[in-house]
Amino acid sequence: MNNFDWIVVGAGITGSSLSYELAKQGLKVLLLEKDPNYDNATRYSYGGVAYWSGTDNYSIQLCQESRDIYHNLSEELGENTDFRELDLMLTIPVNNEPRAIVENYQKFFIKPQLLDPKEANEIEPLLNTDYISGCLKLPHGHIHPQKTNNAYQQAFLRLGGTINYQEVTQLLSQNQKIAGVKTNKEEYYSKNVVICAGGLSRFLLQNMGININIYFTHSQLILTSNVDIKLKALVMPAILNRLDIEEKSGDSEIKSLWNNPNDEIISDVMEPGAIQFLDGSFCLGQISQIITNTTAKLNKSLAEKTIREGVSKILPDLQNLPGKVHNCLVSFCPDSNFLVGKIDNFEGLHLFSGFTSTLMFAPPLARRFASWVTEDYTKMPSLL
Ligand SMILES: Cc1cc2nc3c(=O)[nH]c(=O)nc-3n(C[C@H](O)[C@H](O)[C@H](O)COP(=O)(O)OP(=O)(O)OC[C@H]3O[C@@H](n4cnc5c(N)ncnc54)[C@H](O)[C@@H]3O)c2cc1C
Repeated sequence: MNNFDWIVVGAGITGSSLSYELAKQGLKVLLLEKDPNYDNATRYSYGGVAYWSGTDNYSIQLCQESRDIYHNLSEELGENTDFRELDLMLTIPVNNEPRAIVENYQKFFIKPQLLDPKEANEIEPLLNTDYISGCLKLPHGHIHPQKTNNAYQQAFLRLGGTINYQEVTQLLSQNQKIAGVKTNKEEYYSKNVVICAGGLSRFLLQNMGININIYFTHSQLILTSNVDIKLKALVMPAILNRLDIEEKSGDSEIKSLWNNPNDEIISDVMEPGAIQFLDGSFCLGQISQIITNTTAKLNKSLAEKTIREGVSKILPDLQNLPGKVHNCLVSFCPDSNFLVGKIDNFEGLHLFSGFTSTLMFAPPLARRFASWVTEDYTKMPSLL
């Protein structure tokens, strides 16, 4: 009864897409999620699919696979993901030289179009031309992240998969081999476990004595109710300071701080951005903070003020939309685009987390992961 071919821990977009792909291969899969309210990074994301962002043969191929998957996903899963193509507008603040910024984007296989403020305003009339010296325009995909997650789960259930709302408290093992998991309610058995726990993946692995370069940021954002204002594009800054702080997390002095979690803010960054979903609601973002304690108490009223002030500069009409601050953990890996594969010195243990551009990379890698499992396990990358 409690025996499965695969146990997947965490039901954000990584765990849901992977569970579906494994079940599609005929495997008996259990998906475990601790939070029935899905207060997670998937729910609070903008929903952008950066299929322009490949930089080498492998990532370019994954971008193309991702685009193909999303084009057919609503039909395949039998539920609407709200997928559409839209413009990504990356704003360049007025004191920055646009030509210098555009250089940073030459490594991507689809190059951005550099627009002056007037041209940018024609595409996105809500943009404040006084604040920007230019904009980079890229073709982006967009989904409703929670609807997509739900669509994956419903299709997984139809394939005979099981979803239980329980917290995994321990991985069960014998002689460096996975035997299953223990939750707050019961034990489940499987020779294969995959961790898709987002920002909490680090601690599940650490509890097994496994140290992998996977970290997390605390992110804060505002979700609004449905409003009449229309934003056409996904708007974000062209200079992403978050990537710098993520890179710094790999530095040896900061690495040692992760071993003794506390509430100290190591770094924080505000990146004004906004997206409007098809139902008319907005997500306004985003503050990213590195605090090594997963349960650190965040200052929500300060976050609301900071986000609204930041957004008011680029999109003044959105500043006062009624909305509520939410927070979540977002996992990342400073050294690579994702941590997907088997943990070599621990038979049966796998990781599927630490993504940049998760919504772009997770669906094609979930499909590949499932085919490595059923067709040729030796092809699965090793993480240690
Ligand atoms: C404001 C904002 C905007 C973003 N915009 C984009 C974007 O446009 N495009 C993009 O690609 N990415 C974006 N991201 C990042 C993206 O949302 C995340 O990287 C992605 O959703 C992470 O998915 P996940 O499945 O790894 O983690 P999560 O969605 O956090 O899911 C992990 C799940 O694991 C569960 N879990 C953890 N521990 C346990 C346990 N012990 N037992 C059981 N369950 C457990 C958690 O409850 C959680 O539900 C954005 C993030 C934010 C905050």
